[in-house]
Amino acid sequence: MQKHIIVIGSGFSGISAACALAKQGYRVTVLEKNEAAGGRCSVFKQDGFVFDMGPSWYWMPDVFEWFFETYGDTVDKHYHLTRLNPSYRINFGKGEVIDIPASLDELYALFESLEPGSATQLKKFLDDAAYKYKVGMQDLVFRPCNHVWEFADLRMVKALFTMQLFTSLRREVYSKFKDDRIRKILEFPVYFLGALPSNTPALYSILNYADLALGTWYPQGGMYKIIEGMVHVAEQLGVKFEYHTAVDKITTNGNTTTGVIANGKQYTADGVIAAADYHHVDQHLLNPEHRNYDASYWDKKVFAPSSIIFYLGVSGRVNKLLHHNLFFDQSFEQFADEIYRDPKWPEEPLFYVSAPSKTDPTVAPAGDENLFILIPVAAGLQDTPEIRNHYYQKVMDRLEAFCGEDIRNRVVFKRSFAPVDFVNRYNACKGNAYGLANTLRQTAIFKPKMRNKHLKNLLYAGQLTVPGPGVPPSLISGYVAAGEMNRILG
Ligand SMILES: Cc1cc2nc3c(=O)[nH]c(=O)nc-3n(C[C@H](O)[C@H](O)[C@H](O)COP(=O)(O)OP(=O)(O)OC[C@H]3O[C@@H](n4cnc5c(N)ncnc54)[C@H](O)[C@@H]3O)c2cc1C
Repeated sequence: MQKHIIVIGSGFSGISAACALAKQGYRVTVLEKNEAAGGRCSVFKQDGFVFDMGPSWYWMPDVFEWFFETYGDTVDKHYHLTRLNPSYRINFGKGEVIDIPASLDELYALFESLEPGSATQLKKFLDDAAYKYKVGMQDLVFRPCNHVWEFADLRMVKALFTMQLFTSLRREVYSKFKDDRIRKILEFPVYFLGALPSNTPALYSILNYADLALGTWYPQGGMYKIIEGMVHVAEQLGVKFEYHTAVDKITTNGNTTTGVIANGKQYTADGVIAAADYHHVDQHLLNPEHRNYDASYWDKKVFAPSSIIFYLGVSGRVNKLLHHNLFFDQSFEQFADEIYRDPKWPEEPLFYVSAPSKTDPTVAPAGDENLFILIPVAAGLQDTPEIRNHYYQKVMDRLEAFCGEDIRNRVVFKRSFAPVDFVNRYNACKGNAYGLANTLRQTAIFKPKMRNKHLKNLLYAGQLTVPGPGVPPSLISGYVAAGEMNRILG
């Protein structure tokens, strides 16, 4: 008899877990509360515009290749990738704009022009980051991190020291580079995705390697093409998806789970992989005696930012924007204070604008622009329509000044998405967008555990457990959880 596994949630981690389990011979049902698969990588279409709701940076293309190849498939069969060049544009304010080139030689030349001698330092920095990426991908991210002993062999201990776990990214960057713009270029992935560079292990320069060496790519048709491809793979393997099906309870018998209750119906299962937000599953779908952590544990966790997002359909084109645009024209330090040190609504936020219609004619009506504006804000804030409008006007003032043209009066469609929507749509703890901050205390074995301590056949997957936030790690998380389930049931 085929064993049956329920997967809760159909984000990257849920679909990935489902595929791996189905390949191992399990019957798999994915239960998803929303109208379609994708989780934070949802999509909506309006008036000829196609808006990706979440991720927009396609980094680490090797992980997507690995995923599709694991199932005898290829990326190309599902979407066509374009490497963006320049990768992105940064507005530093006062008329200073820097484009990050795709070519490493051009990047070295750019750094050298900003700070003499920095090309050599960048080469060294990226060589170290390449080593970390290689060891990380081969040795670290596929470990379930159940126990410290997983890292106890000599090769691993040596690797952990050379991976700079105990040096901060800030120290690493500041010791090599003096120019403020270079420092911002190297610290932004960490700032935007998770934590203060001074609290982030230099291990995370792997993000710089992903950014500057592996490049920024774009799947034509939009990021949702990845989800469509993954759902296709899953369905070919026999996985069943049920939408509009929010799980209300994980049912138990002694030290096992027997399945879940959703829409008033009992789904029996031999195992459950919970790929919805960990905190939601642990605190709301389980009885207190079966929870891995209590409320105070989650209160003490440092969350990566939430965001206020505006999806805009604009009539006509918008000048001066590339596909990805970062507005670093205000103080980084103040931004960091308002997100991490003293969480509150920001005075003058940094923000990011994506204009996928610069690369892809299918995401906007001919001649029009599709804009996605994201303002990182501290997790846990309560937004209101007035607050959203306040930030809309603020960023539009700066965007229009930068572009040198009117945009507001050409907006033909506008939708916002803010912390309260993250809670309502994804059951996100404190409205977080990208999970936990990447601090040392929240890395690897210190992350919320994949295995439930009380129910032997309940596992967690997704951005709040190992290996961490972002599309590629979430995808890997589902795969690792499926391997753990097979070890338990197999
Ligand atoms: C605005 C934004 C921009 C981002 N940009 C990038 C980027 O550019 N690049 C990148 O790599 N990463 C990016 N990320 C991060 C990335 O999107 C996430 O890390 C990843 O998608 C998380 O996947 P997941 O499977 O862990 O969770 P999710 O995608 O949240 O999936 C969990 C699913 O569980 C469902 N669910 C919740 N509760 C229940 C329930 N009770 N019953 C049934 N289903 C339930 C949810 O509806 C959801 O579909 C971004 C995230 C956001 C929000």
